[in-house]
Amino acid sequence: MSDLKPRVRFAPSPTGPLHMGGVRTALYNYLFAKKHGGTFILRIEDTDQARYVEEAEEYIVSALKWCGIMPSEGPGIGGKHGPYRQSERKEMYAKYADQLIDSGNAYYAWDTSEELTTKRKSSEKGDWRYGIGTREEMNNSLNMTEEEMNAKFATDAPYVIRFKTPENETITFTDEIRDEVSFQSNLLDDKVIFKSDGMPTYHLANIVDDHLMEITHVIRGEEWLPSAPLHVLLYRAFGWDAPKFAHLPLILKPTGNGKLSKRDGAKFGFPVFPLEWYDKTESETYAGYKEDGYLPEAFINMLLMLGWNPGTEQEIFPHEEMIHAFSLDRVVKSGARFDPEKAKWFNENWLRAMDNETLCSLLKPLAEDLPQDISDDQLAGIVHLLKERVSFIHEFLDAEYLFNSPVSFDEKTVKKKWKEQSADLMTQLAADFGEITDFNAVTAKETFSAFMEAKEVGFGQIGPALRLLLSGLGGGPDLFEIMAFLGKEECLQRMKNNLESIATLKATL
Ligand code: GLU
Repeated sequence: MSDLKPRVRFAPSPTGPLHMGGVRTALYNYLFAKKHGGTFILRIEDTDQARYVEEAEEYIVSALKWCGIMPSEGPGIGGKHGPYRQSERKEMYAKYADQLIDSGNAYYAWDTSEELTTKRKSSEKGDWRYGIGTREEMNNSLNMTEEEMNAKFATDAPYVIRFKTPENETITFTDEIRDEVSFQSNLLDDKVIFKSDGMPTYHLANIVDDHLMEITHVIRGEEWLPSAPLHVLLYRAFGWDAPKFAHLPLILKPTGNGKLSKRDGAKFGFPVFPLEWYDKTESETYAGYKEDGYLPEAFINMLLMLGWNPGTEQEIFPHEEMIHAFSLDRVVKSGARFDPEKAKWFNENWLRAMDNETLCSLLKPLAEDLPQDISDDQLAGIVHLLKERVSFIHEFLDAEYLFNSPVSFDEKTVKKKWKEQSADLMTQLAADFGEITDFNAVTAKETFSAFMEAKEVGFGQIGPALRLLLSGLGGGPDLFEIMAFLGKEECLQRMKNNLESIATLKATL
């Protein structure tokens, strides 16, 4: 890095919620800035009025906040290069479009959308493009005299400004991730840079703002790579130094087959968005990582590893370590396949690494939504019991038997493990438990072991039966820890009251 502190931006268009790929772009920008003592900027690119979605900006800001990726310049935050919403910078762009007209790098075009559609349809392969080789047959200022042009302006017919792509050039630039990238200018369109509604298009606004905001590195998704040669040409036309470019690999579907899309979430059963999103036009709710019980630390850790690796075996990265370890040169070139199981793995790891007190505080609001009252002691007990067994916070509260005596019993276990003598053995065992004065996991276990010895039975003969009585299940956390959690009286009651239900069930199997 040179002495210049990097200034990077995340520049989403508020056309909908932020896809996890967008969050990863924001994360890499943020990490890059933090690592080099630079600035991370949020810029809202809302020049496309037709695709504008009102709630999207708020969603983007909330999502970044949840992830802990906080910009230091942006809408609502301020900064010396504001405003940071392009619609509020509207007046600035016209003069830059004019500048390109004056320097011969752009021209006016009056072609109607019907005319353009006819042209596109006329090409056999559907690859017609407005540009080199076709621009001379179109309705634009390149083919008009000054008078003709003025006459056109006088009609008030809507017009756009297009960039005039130079002929027969190879446009080459160095991408921080892909090294040298080249494009043939003759294959590019003359893109619209200024629209008839008085708004710049993405291309013009993006370049002007990156320049005015003194952006040093453009770090964005691979889908923008085809736009990069036009951007390079625009910088040149303005006589400005271009920032460095880094195009991040795509995030692929779990099958490895194509780009991860918003529909894949429902299809493969995982969220694609950081926060839940209700799509008004589709009347559909899309799941969010937050609502599905992911910790933000786990979510961004997963995103960090989706397209980057540290070159070591380390996979779990707390915030500061992420900043320290990140570098653009370890971002991979090829698409990164998303693995929902791995996402879950990150969450489990982060949950297990958390101290019990923090887990309790995260669990408490969820517990408050339940019909029964759960005390702080009970919450602490649940966390202790289940910490190694859950993948998500809400799963702590899924073990219904911790609060209520079971009403159903696992058929498979009843069939295999509940024997003729089970009821007798359990009644005798309950009597032994009843004798314990200091009832806890250790004393319950001791009593249980002594009982096995005295009756000459193995764990397999009485353990599953006891678990059935207490929880209705065939498996779960340590039996004696469960007993300690429930307390002596509750255990004894369940051991007595559930005998009949199990016997009745057994008779039907
Ligand atoms: N507004 C573009 C987007 O929605 C920004 C692309 C870029 O970073 O240049 O992703």
